[in-house]
Amino acid sequence: MAKQDRIDISLAKTPPGVAATAPTLIVDTYFHIIYDPAEPSGNIPTNKLAKQLKALNDAYAPAKIAFNLKNVTRNANKNWTTFETATDDPLEMQMKAKLRKGDYKTLNIYFRPWLDRQGDLGFCDFPKTLTSSVMIQDGCSVLSDTVPGGSTGPFNEGKTAVHEVGHWFGLLHTFTGGCSDKDGDMIDDTPAEAEPAFGCPVGRDSCKKKPGKDPIHNFMDYGDDACLTEFTPGQAVRMRNMWTRFRQQKLPSSTLDRRSK
Ligand SMILES: [Zn+2]
Repeated sequence: MAKQDRIDISLAKTPPGVAATAPTLIVDTYFHIIYDPAEPSGNIPTNKLAKQLKALNDAYAPAKIAFNLKNVTRNANKNWTTFETATDDPLEMQMKAKLRKGDYKTLNIYFRPWLDRQGDLGFCDFPKTLTSSVMIQDGCSVLSDTVPGGSTGPFNEGKTAVHEVGHWFGLLHTFTGGCSDKDGDMIDDTPAEAEPAFGCPVGRDSCKKKPGKDPIHNFMDYGDDACLTEFTPGQAVRMRNMWTRFRQQKLPSSTLDRRSK
């Protein structure tokens, strides 16, 4: 459930996997907890956040990616709980301008008790050409109760954050492009899939003319949390390539004030 932002998907298709000798990619990470002061239960307790961090690290370890939680901010602010995500609401930019930390390779996750009227579980911004407004907006919005032990079962094992962070790294849905030869998710080792998988339909094969059963266990599908268990080697390579291509960007120095000399 990503924002339909523009994304450069022109990177070449990926080789088989990340080299065993490749260093682990360490991602500095900030969790921002947004809650209504009238509903203090929305202030996610530290033990649940630790489980969320573990869910992220467990999911990404095979891809040699690790998340280093630098800080947690706790924000009792009713206004920030009510705007619709993905509508470019000025309140979103106000919130992020206040809270976002680090540079473009720093992951900021905003846990909010409500995201929109569609009942979406999460949104995230794809990597793209960096501008100062792209920098502020960058990050993932995740429904607070999707953290491990939250109330949104069967989506309460922290896999929503895992999925959204996949978008942050530039991954598309496994069902993108359906059974088409073209487009798709730009990954060679995720079989084509006609449409999202819900629940956990083991053995489903929605593109019978294409090799492989549907990748229903892939984190970039829509199944229940318990069903989602893997990224493929090709996805691991794409994440690393996108990191190198996009996440290393710095804001141009022309945005700095040089008049002080
Ligand atoms: Zn998604």
